[in-house]
Amino acid sequence: METELTYLHDAYRRELEATVVDRRDDAVALDRTIFYPTGGGQPHDTGRLHHAAGAVGVAVGVTAAAKEGLVVWHQLDGPAPEVGAAVRCELDWDRRHQLMRAHSAMHVLCGVIWNEYGRAVTGGNMEPLGGRMDFEFDPLPEGFAQHVSEAVNAEIAADRPIEVSFLPRGQALADDALIRTKVNLIPDTVQVIRVVDIVGLDRQADGGTHVARTGEIGRFEIVKTESKGKGNKRVRIALS
Ligand SMILES: [Zn+2]
Repeated sequence: METELTYLHDAYRRELEATVVDRRDDAVALDRTIFYPTGGGQPHDTGRLHHAAGAVGVAVGVTAAAKEGLVVWHQLDGPAPEVGAAVRCELDWDRRHQLMRAHSAMHVLCGVIWNEYGRAVTGGNMEPLGGRMDFEFDPLPEGFAQHVSEAVNAEIAADRPIEVSFLPRGQALADDALIRTKVNLIPDTVQVIRVVDIVGLDRQADGGTHVARTGEIGRFEIVKTESKGKGNKRVRIALS
């Protein structure tokens, strides 16, 4: 059993018809979904499942989504519909879109820091309209926050397209930009690599949801920098 992840191809889809393929008391697995399950530093989506209970239509809230193997489980705030039930998924679009803006902002930040300083990212986490990323600095350069904020906002103003493509593993492993972002650490079982390309700035293997152009990210600001030990500096960002 495998849940088809429609957001990998179309991050802007807000509603989707699907079928319940497994259930627990307060959760369902679907044959396909628009709900992003927590992973890769990006939190899960929320929203609703609409379905028919007898003759009446009901909606139950989706409070979390998580991947177990190849299946996405949707945590519900009410009774789960039966296996075989037809449901209509509906995203909390404001939250999802804020997460898309945050995720794309993180990639712009990665690209800018690589271009300006040649330093790689070591970790990160995002939330709607914000997040944090850790980089291999020791110490941070003088004027870092202001210089990087200006450079990121310039890339946002340039309104670069953000393109998603799917590459055979062998081709991805021959791509210097993808090797730099550790595509070789993706398990051998994954034979098709999804690539998110901020054209001319940053190219990474990535499973997250992104906006279509950098101009959609909004205003970027570094709100805090802190040391998390030798060779590891944390950058907190906010969007408005
Ligand atoms: Zn990413």
